[in-house]
Amino acid sequence: MTKKDAKKNDLLYERKNFFKDASQAEQDAAFSYAEPYKEFLDQAKTVRETVAYVENLLKKHKFQALGAKNAKKRVYSIFRGKTMAFAVIGSKPISEGFNMVAAHIDTPRVDLKQNPLYEDASSTMACMRTHYYGGIKKYQWVSTPLALHGAIIKKDGSVLEISLGEKEDEPVFIIPDLLPHLARKEQYTKNLADAIDASRMNLVFGGMQEPNNEDKEAVKLYALKQLNARYGITEADFISAELELVPATRSRDAGIDSSMVVGYGQDDRICSYAALTALIDNLDAKPSKTMIVYFSDKEEVGSQGNTGAQSVFLEDFVGRLLKANGECDSSANLRNTFMNSQILSADVTAAMDPNYPGVHERQNATLFNHGVGISKFTGAGGKSGCNDANAEFVAKVIRIFNDAGVYWQMGALGKVDEGGGGTIAYILANLGAEVIDCGTGLMGMHSLYEMCSKADLYSTYRGYKAFLTSL
Ligand code: MN
Ligand code: MN
Repeated sequence: MTKKDAKKNDLLYERKNFFKDASQAEQDAAFSYAEPYKEFLDQAKTVRETVAYVENLLKKHKFQALGAKNAKKRVYSIFRGKTMAFAVIGSKPISEGFNMVAAHIDTPRVDLKQNPLYEDASSTMACMRTHYYGGIKKYQWVSTPLALHGAIIKKDGSVLEISLGEKEDEPVFIIPDLLPHLARKEQYTKNLADAIDASRMNLVFGGMQEPNNEDKEAVKLYALKQLNARYGITEADFISAELELVPATRSRDAGIDSSMVVGYGQDDRICSYAALTALIDNLDAKPSKTMIVYFSDKEEVGSQGNTGAQSVFLEDFVGRLLKANGECDSSANLRNTFMNSQILSADVTAAMDPNYPGVHERQNATLFNHGVGISKFTGAGGKSGCNDANAEFVAKVIRIFNDAGVYWQMGALGKVDEGGGGTIAYILANLGAEVIDCGTGLMGMHSLYEMCSKADLYSTYRGYKAFLTSL
């Protein structure tokens, strides 16, 4: 290398391409890491399923419920089956500050209405009315195989978990789209956003009836009989149920080089999985600072409610951690603890889309294969609604990543004034902690087939792992 070249390399910043620069061992590790990740995506398609999956894994690694008599250094807490936090207590007092990775586990989907089932007179079919959840493009959810997941509360109060349409021998469900031959007036004259009317996103649920049955709604009745035989439920049980339609497809490799993963719910289960495995793989680290992973619900609809990031759950969890660790759990010390802490708001960002480069600003957008994305701020317009991470903290996170050899890049979501989006970062920052958005770039975010790069998935995991044990 000449003297002139060295100077040039010192002067310029250039993000690195994982597949160009990483060792063969690292590339192999990235591919291996993606295998159990795909299984996780297939097994945890709803909030409740994710919580159950994570709890099961935590128990295998000797985590105990926070507050249990014999609970020691590895603890977790679940609230209403939809939000959870888990921690490994460090050697230093928690009030001196913890390291947290915080992701959300809810995903855009199509829910059944509370009175869903009806017999459609025009077609003589049993159908289900739906109400979508989160920011979906409605046209993506029609004419695609859907599985029914959820919870039905039985008359004795017990919870019946449902999953129908995932196994090969189980039926799937379809919201049929209109055939192109007859779509000229109904769809082609309309805006993309209006072409599929939410009131016409009804699921075709069944079509049979019993022979010689003269009942008025014999097809609906037959569908109810099927449901009753399968689950022991009646029509009234729908009223309190939480039933969700999610893609019935499995996640799988994508691309001729299999360098990508395509699957449903990667916003934000990719960051959830990376955070979960980062903590578990740090169990032998004997950290000085307490490591926490937090999974929130309702992010896709604004983080409200008793399981959203705006709820008291997280503060309560940290307060109880303080108490369990023999520290003061006063309101003042809880505030002090958060103000001493640092958090990665672990959520996905938009990766450069080869079909729509114009909505991104390349220099500040994530590119596939260039590592985990760091977003100093999110929001819309003039940074509206953003958490703007402090420069000192941005620099610190970059230092941590560089020291650990993590591939990273800046990850602004779109061009200024192109649109925008938010995460739970500002909610956590309101508690006083240093917070920055840090997550994987996806193509096709919020679609049924979101896509990530295995290099970025692995870099996200490695970044979270280094952050959790940082000082
Ligand atoms: Mn998200
Ligand atoms: Mn989202």
